[in-house]
Amino acid sequence: MELDMPCARETSGPVIACFQSVNSSERTAFMLRAGDEYLASIQDGRQVYVGRDLVADVTTHRGFAGPARIVARLFDRSSADPSLSYVEQETGEKTNVNFLRPRSGEDLTLRRRLHTAWADESNGLFGRSPDHVAAMVTGMACRPEVTGNDQYAENLLNYWRHIRDNDLYLSFAVLPPAGSKSVKSSAVQNAMRVVETSEAGVKVRGFKMLATGGALCHEILVGNAQPLRSGDEAVAVSFGIAANHPGVKILARKPYAAHAVSNVDDPLADFDESDAAIYFDDVVVPWDRIFVLDDPKASYGLFVETPGHTLGNAQAHIRLLAKMRFMLAAAKRLGDALEFTGNPAVQGVLGGLAARVKMLEASVIAQESQPTRWDHGFVSQNREFMYANSNWSMEYFSDFATEMRHMLASHAFQQPADVGAFGNEYTRKLFLELHRTDDFEVAMSRYRLIRLMWGMVGSELASRNNQYELFYAGPPHVTRSRMYDCFDWESAEARVDAFLAQTAAADGIA
Ligand SMILES: Cc1cc2nc3c(=O)[nH]c(=O)nc-3n(C[C@H](O)[C@H](O)[C@H](O)COP(=O)(O)OP(=O)(O)OC[C@H]3O[C@@H](n4cnc5c(N)ncnc54)[C@H](O)[C@@H]3O)c2cc1C
Repeated sequence: MELDMPCARETSGPVIACFQSVNSSERTAFMLRAGDEYLASIQDGRQVYVGRDLVADVTTHRGFAGPARIVARLFDRSSADPSLSYVEQETGEKTNVNFLRPRSGEDLTLRRRLHTAWADESNGLFGRSPDHVAAMVTGMACRPEVTGNDQYAENLLNYWRHIRDNDLYLSFAVLPPAGSKSVKSSAVQNAMRVVETSEAGVKVRGFKMLATGGALCHEILVGNAQPLRSGDEAVAVSFGIAANHPGVKILARKPYAAHAVSNVDDPLADFDESDAAIYFDDVVVPWDRIFVLDDPKASYGLFVETPGHTLGNAQAHIRLLAKMRFMLAAAKRLGDALEFTGNPAVQGVLGGLAARVKMLEASVIAQESQPTRWDHGFVSQNREFMYANSNWSMEYFSDFATEMRHMLASHAFQQPADVGAFGNEYTRKLFLELHRTDDFEVAMSRYRLIRLMWGMVGSELASRNNQYELFYAGPPHVTRSRMYDCFDWESAEARVDAFLAQTAAADGIA
């Protein structure tokens, strides 16, 4: 296997794609993907279920159309802005920075620019925007030998080339279903496992959790982002699969967007990125998409022994920064509108929250300014800082959101049931009086603001988003153990040894 060897393609003339992709067959590879092209590409016969119903077309379904348009907006943003692309060494083509394998601090800065641009488009409310999982695969492609098998390593590199050259949106399902953690093996009965291999590929059956964006993506990365045990060989398989591949069933949770009353009442409905359990109904994964087979260590190693986890989580932190800054600003606006920001105690609360936002920003900059160096000349954001930040945000975000709820107090419940109240002459008059104004615009802008705050901290979507911040990096005990594993204990403990030696010497013991 040669690390930097391009896959089968000509250096000039038409490009031969590494994989036949149903989604991308009609586009010229190497083009930066535009929004309308993205929307057309996901009308591909994928099998998304909402309850008992099979969704005919996610781009027109009430629960997914709005979120799909947000993803389209992200692609429009990156394809229109030359500062969000780079020239890929292997191809000489302009490519989305999402797929840049970083070799320097400047490359990390470039990556941050893309994460920031996309996070700003959703104000951080899209956790698994297309730059999350693609960043992971890009990181895996920096150290493909972790697969432990030359052919699989080549497959992984070719997969990265495929998603890179077609500017694809990936989600991932990298957890076994419930129950797997209470028994000795992760290979519980209903967990996705290999049931057969043949010339055609590797047949898998069972559940894999939990693909955020699964209904909207082009591809699903399947693997194991939590440590496996020996004995888990049947589930120790990693691969990339098209969302519309035969047998891939996408079982979406309740799409909140489908229940939105209006943009004013549910201003964040379009930002419901969706989550889905994935059922593999005897899916035959072609051999050239297999990255790991029968290897518990390598399947987990793809995440933590490559820059994959770090590049992916760096996106998560940059996105969280956009979200917390947006929430803070909305809280300040609420305080201004309801006239309580003049109170020094409230200013103190807002100041404390602002300090946390700046600490997060400092952590993002620190991760980038002290890169971790990997083999083959690649770098990632600083791993120790990255895991510290994952731990911090997992612990802290709920407190931040609770402070917002304190500020919102009962105001969400003092409002009319929905914006329709402003269309009835009598109730409109009453609500203007409630807002102590004759000016409809003033009352309406307060109403909008209060609905926005509720959308961020109180609604069903807000509750899901809170759960996301708690669990996006994995369960707390695993997130903490990753910090334990990567912390530089040696140099810290050396200080303790040196101190003890010093005191012993002072007593004349040494
Ligand atoms: C909104 C949301 C979006 C998500 N998106 C994705 C995604 O895109 N892709 C993906 O693959 N996954 C995703 N996840 C899944 C996420 O990685 C898991 O929620 C997380 O790893 C925990 O697994 P679990 O939910 O199965 O809970 P469990 O592992 O069943 O844990 C339940 C509880 O028990 C505790 N617990 C379990 N075992 C132990 C132990 N040994 N020691 C101490 N405590 C323990 C856990 O901390 C937790 O509090 C998402 C989760 C959420 C909530």
